[in-house]
This record gives sequence, C-alpha cells and structure tokens, in this order.
Amino acid sequence: MSTRPVDFLLSIVAPCYNEAEGLPEFIRRVKAVCARLACRHEIILVNDGSRDHTLSVARDLALADPAIKVVNLLRNFGHQAAVTAGLDLAAGDAVVLIDSDLQDPPEVIIEMVARWREGADVAYGQRRTRAGESAFKLLTAKLFYRLLRRLTRSDIPADTGDFRLMDRRVAEVLREMRERHRFIRGMVSWIGGRQVAVAYDREPRFAGSTKYPLRKMLAFAVDAITSFSVVPLRLVTYLAITILILALFTTVGLFIAKLVNPEHFIPGYASIILTIVFFGGVQLLALGIIGEYVGRMFEASKGRPLYIVEQVYPNSPVPSAPPPAA
Ligand code: UDP
Ligand code: MG
Repeated sequence: MSTRPVDFLLSIVAPCYNEAEGLPEFIRRVKAVCARLACRHEIILVNDGSRDHTLSVARDLALADPAIKVVNLLRNFGHQAAVTAGLDLAAGDAVVLIDSDLQDPPEVIIEMVARWREGADVAYGQRRTRAGESAFKLLTAKLFYRLLRRLTRSDIPADTGDFRLMDRRVAEVLREMRERHRFIRGMVSWIGGRQVAVAYDREPRFAGSTKYPLRKMLAFAVDAITSFSVVPLRLVTYLAITILILALFTTVGLFIAKLVNPEHFIPGYASIILTIVFFGGVQLLALGIIGEYVGRMFEASKGRPLYIVEQVYPNSPVPSAPPPAA
C-alpha cells in the first residue's frame, strides 16, 4: 500500500483491564524490544475501567517515560472497544495491537516489523501453541474459527488473536470502520492488502486471570458471526422453502389417500393440516424475505467504505480518515 519510511514511528497499543500486577514487566519487555529495533516509538496503554490500581501503575510508568501514553476510559467498555480507543490515538507509521498480560510475547514484534519493512501491510500473530489455557478454551476457540470460516466470505485466518502489526494505511481504514459490534481481527482481514502470518507460541498469563469468561466468549462469537455473515438470516428462507415443498407433497399425498381409500378418511382432516402447514411455511418465507432486507439495511447502516483508495494520482494527498465519532 504505502512505502516504508526509514525513520519510522512505531505505535504499540495495549488494552489493560485489571493488569496492575503484570504491567511493569510488560513495559520492561516492550521497551527492550523497542531498544533492539532502535526506532521512535509510543506505547499507548488503554485502561479499560480496571477495578484494581492499573491506572496509577500505568500513570507512574508514563511519568517515568515520555514514550508512554495512558488512555483512561470512563468505565469498562470491553477489550475490542479499548483497542479501538488506543488505535484512534496511534500516530505511528506502523501500529501494533498487543495484550498487556504478556500472553502475546512482545519479542514477536521484531519479526512483525521485519515483515512490514519487506512490504507486508499486516503481520498477524498466529498461535503455534497456547500454553496455560484450559482444554475447554482451546476446544471452543478451535470450533469457533472453523464455524466462522464456513459462515463468512472474508478469509479470517484461524488461531489468531488481535496481536498484529498494521501499516498506518490499514490502521486508518480500520479507524474509519465505526461499527458498534467489533470483531477487529475479522475487520482487519476484511480490509485486505498484503497480510502475512508470524507464528508464535502463546505464553501463559504473567499475572492475574482471564477476563473472557464463557458469557463474554459467547457474546464475542455472536458479534463475529453477525457482523461478517447474513447466513443465519438466509437459513430462515431455506427452511421456509423446505416446508413449502413438504406442504406440496402432503397435499398430493392426502389427495391420493382420499381417492384410494375414501371411507377411512376423516372429513376435514386434510384441509386443517394443510392450512397449518401451508401458512406456517408462507409466514416463515415472509419472515425470511424481510430478514434479507433487514440484513442488507444492517450491512448498510454499518457504513463501511465501499472501496479503498490505494493512491490518488498525480501525487495529491490521499484523504485522511475522518476524526472518530465521539
Ligand atoms: N481487556 C480489556 N477489557 C476487558 C477485558 C480484557 O481491556 O473488558 C484486556 C486485558 O487486559 C488483556 C486483553 O484485553 O490485555 C485480553 O484479555 P484476556 O487476557 O482476559 O483474554 P484472554 O487472553 O484470556 O482471551
Ligand atoms: Mg490474555
């Protein structure tokens, strides 16, 4: 998409929810990575309404280091919203999204930057292994990514989280996508460009516990499927058509039964059953069709850009992303 500047600014965006304990170690490791990359950098910590002293820890870290910025959210808005808040402030030529619990090893950023310098627009972390996760989490994650692949047309790679590096152009497009129910890893793959995988081993949490209980995981899965697929709506239409075909066969069947065996036929039976089955089918069909239109309105109301300008010739500046809605 764009050429890579020699002297670049690296933005590192990390959402934090009750991560006070692990945060200093996280910053230490990120700083070590930045030192090895020898690049200008900013670290944006988003405090997502933590109930522990994450905010004061983060602010102390920021006092000691001008590269660190802290975004404090009014309350807990959730992981994806926190990432978005940080992303909106990130000014870097390359923007990294990383969890602050050290499950995403910061050292992987070095390889991501290398891929980016070679011309990749997105270098996403792909988990080779996941240490310290329950068998249940591993199984549900696996099933979820397989289901998502079947239901959606965009090619969302399996076994990825939000841990990734994006070129500034990708980050700008992502910033324009203001949809409410966010599934960032899917949105980034929807954008396209040159996206490459960087394999890594996911580590156990440094401290604290997961903030994704089953309830949040389910809500996240529904967000992911509904924002990338209208297949569930279409299923209603298919169901309706199936029922209508069944009703047709039943009509024929009952008609034949009546002709062949008129004395064993209960009067009124056929008409009642047929009415129920037929109108049930018609109603479902109507619902399905309405669903299709609602689905399309839903797509339109998300206001995603219809295409992405690669470059405007001759050398006029590419319009930048509008300021994020408040
Ligand atoms: N997080 C957040 N807000 C939330 C939940 C989580 O900012 O409401 C952050 C959390 O601090 C961590 C990242 O998002 O840096 C991923 O969360 P977590 O580690 O709990 O998820 P898991 O790795 O277990 O899927
Ligand atoms: Mg985690």
